[in-house]
Amino acid sequence: MEQRVEFNTELIKRYDVAGPRYTSYPTAVQFMEGFDAEAYRRHTAASNNELIPKPLSLYVHLPFCKSLCYYCGCMKKVTRHTHQADHYLGLLEREVELQGELFDQDREVVQLHFGGGTPTFHDDDQLRGLVGRLGRHFALSGDETREFSIEVDPRTVGTERLGALAEMGFNRISLGIQDIDPAVQEAVNRIQDTRSTLDMIEGSRKLGFNSVSVDLIYGLPLQTVEGFTETIDTVVGARPNRLAVYNYAHLPHIFRAQRMIDAADIPSPETKLQLMELTISRLIDAGYVYIGMDHFALPDDELTIAQREGGLQRNFQGYSTRRECDLVGLGVSSIGKVGDCYAQNIKDIQTWQATVAEGKLPIWRGISLNTEDRMRRRVIESIMCHGELRFENIESMFAIDFPDHFARELHDLEQMEADGLLEMSGDAIRVTPPGRLLLRNIAMVFDEYLQEQANTPRFSRVI
Ligand code: SF4
Repeated sequence: MEQRVEFNTELIKRYDVAGPRYTSYPTAVQFMEGFDAEAYRRHTAASNNELIPKPLSLYVHLPFCKSLCYYCGCMKKVTRHTHQADHYLGLLEREVELQGELFDQDREVVQLHFGGGTPTFHDDDQLRGLVGRLGRHFALSGDETREFSIEVDPRTVGTERLGALAEMGFNRISLGIQDIDPAVQEAVNRIQDTRSTLDMIEGSRKLGFNSVSVDLIYGLPLQTVEGFTETIDTVVGARPNRLAVYNYAHLPHIFRAQRMIDAADIPSPETKLQLMELTISRLIDAGYVYIGMDHFALPDDELTIAQREGGLQRNFQGYSTRRECDLVGLGVSSIGKVGDCYAQNIKDIQTWQATVAEGKLPIWRGISLNTEDRMRRRVIESIMCHGELRFENIESMFAIDFPDHFARELHDLEQMEADGLLEMSGDAIRVTPPGRLLLRNIAMVFDEYLQEQANTPRFSRVI
């Protein structure tokens, strides 16, 4: 497949519309509250009964943070009272037990991610206790190919804690940097010392962690091209295996924290475009491969290899390997993907706690996919992950005639083809290097649900 990327300002401006990021299809907007714990149980039982049950991937949500970053769009709880977090952990262990009962014990957990919030808000004993509980209710892999990752906040963790995390079985870390410019850090209320962050990356390598992922954000208040160039160059100097460079979407009507940001300080669309262009060119020059949708990885990283070999997937953390897994979401607001369903836990922490305390699965909403959903999910994933769609793959999987079934969509893509985003032959669609920056615009053509959502401001834009 095509892994080159080309920045084309005119095309990006022309296609700058709000749209989903397709971390799932159907997107979370389509999840229904009628999908309850019983529906989820049915899907988990069916997944155990597959001819070859899939291995498992666990996502564990630890929502507590000590202070509020003003750009934040995550589900978190800001507090300095650790007893609240202790109470949550106790109930999370109960949920681990409830979920563990649903899955056959020989289904190995090959992927585990502790996300947040700030997982390292909790001390080592607490995290060790949680990993121990997971190990009692799920078959955690001990193989060195396992991917056990944790988000580490360098503001709360020194390199000394990394050793304890390695002993617990974690072999990957991800950390947020966002921007090293002190003025930007102050404007978003996230003061983070660059030296200790870089020491943490270096320290993790010495301890044998085999992957470091770093998040940056462009479009934050007071950011400048010069300042962000320094951020990129400094971070690239530490050679993280993966980089996600997100476009800040200012949606204060959805994310309360963002109301603390003065909209006048946000870079103009022109500056954001420059920041985007500089990010891409500097990372490519530094030897990173553009995976898609803000993600970059070194050429020997599993993400890059999975993309070349057709094994990449979209999930709620962006791009991921291990497409063959069922994903179990644990903790408040987390989302799982088991068999042909998505299921999301209750979003309100008090209600989540009360439900688990009663011994009930805290499922809030979800969706059972029908055949059309599954087919469109496959189409959208092929575009988002591999920039290529061979009609015969979909035809053989779903017994359809692709040009006939997707006649409207193929017609709609003609303008994009004329604009140079993609090439169509009689049997495939291939995204071009400029089109790789507009993957979701192409995917949106295949999204059956989008028409009714298109006019609501719930999705972010390209710029
Ligand atoms: S960005 Fe991360 S650390 Fe900051 S408030 Fe949000 S979840 Fe917490």
